[in-house]
Amino acid sequence: MGREFLDLVDTREAHSIIRSLFQEIYHPPKVEKINLNYAYGRVLAQDVKSPIDLPPFNRASRDGYALKAEDTFHASEDNPSILKCIEVIEAGAIPQKKVRRGYCSRISTGAPIPEGADAIVMIEYTEEEDDNILIYRSAYPGQHIAPRGSDMPKNEIIAKKNSILSPEKIGAISAAGISKVPVIAKPKIGILSTGNELIEPSNHWTPGKIFDSNSHSLAAAVKNCGCEPKILGIVKDDYTEVYKTIQESIQECDILITSGGTSAGAGDVLREVIEDIGEVIIHGISIKPGKPTIIGKIDDKLVFGLPGFPVSALIIFDVFLRPYLMELSGKPQMEHRTIELPLARRLHSSRGRIHYALVKIENNKVYPILKDSGAITSLADADGYIKVPKNVEILEEGSNVKVSPFSQ
Ligand code: AMP
Ligand code: MG
Repeated sequence: MGREFLDLVDTREAHSIIRSLFQEIYHPPKVEKINLNYAYGRVLAQDVKSPIDLPPFNRASRDGYALKAEDTFHASEDNPSILKCIEVIEAGAIPQKKVRRGYCSRISTGAPIPEGADAIVMIEYTEEEDDNILIYRSAYPGQHIAPRGSDMPKNEIIAKKNSILSPEKIGAISAAGISKVPVIAKPKIGILSTGNELIEPSNHWTPGKIFDSNSHSLAAAVKNCGCEPKILGIVKDDYTEVYKTIQESIQECDILITSGGTSAGAGDVLREVIEDIGEVIIHGISIKPGKPTIIGKIDDKLVFGLPGFPVSALIIFDVFLRPYLMELSGKPQMEHRTIELPLARRLHSSRGRIHYALVKIENNKVYPILKDSGAITSLADADGYIKVPKNVEILEEGSNVKVSPFSQ
């Protein structure tokens, strides 16, 4: 043993290394063209412009009669204008006749305005009498007509690059006759659990075994960052098996996250495997929990070897992966909102390492969760964590702390 953690890095250095690795490997982000039906919540990779005027023609916005406004200038309840109807124009039809003075066309909402007409009088203010149409109200030119391009002229930007596709944006894009949009491809994140003791939650428990929870908590955390998790399953603490699995699975994903086997105990083979297939960049971060973390590179892809303890795995994910994955998936960096509240009781920490302590918020007070990082229930109870600086040993009851919530 002994060689592990020789080069323990502090959290700031780890961030700076990770940031430049992401920049070097994953920029610019991959783009894919997808059907609008699947685009909800995705991030636009380019501005989308309208290829047409909207509406594409001068369009009736009421049911009524299309006519020349000047024919109605003196119309009133007592003295209606009298016009002849020459055509009925339904929505979707093309007008065939030109409207001249003294004439009108019956028109439905959404139909194109016939040539010669410059206004619509609503059906409610008209009456049909034999061959005549009586118009009881005057109209002004342009009344109830949506001119071509008035909603959105051709080439106008409908939705901006980097915007998240909402129902409204999807509606506006479809209205312009666009059915596919360029979006930032969801990064594929492989998730692999390592450990002889692990079994799938769907299996029957047998003595000595532990259900794999990291695969599932990490997959959810990956989704929460706008990425696509691919659960690769469980692999035993066996050099050859881990080697083969990592070598194969790295091809299918952009980033590989493993959990377990990152220390230097018997059966901890991860460091050796990554070293042999690729390169270990960090082994050991000065942080609690989660010190035995490995960051490596294989075939120009990043591998994050998280410690097996469920709390450690999720804290390391939250601190060292979440911000970068969110950026990679194009999700606007939800600024890391923290909530500042007083501690409900005193908290002891250890000197020399930044300590991330799980906490629960109740009645506007912050309760440290005092179970160890192997306790899965501490995660289920936790609302988030607080960061205790390296050189602080005790946080007193009542002192204000900043809680980082796990999910926002
Ligand atoms: P390791 O990092 O492999 O030394 O594992 C540390 C602890 O975390 C051990 O108690 C493991 O049983 C536990 N552990 C490792 N991987 C998982 C996992 N995928 N799900 C739940 N617990 C795990
Ligand atoms: Mg293990």
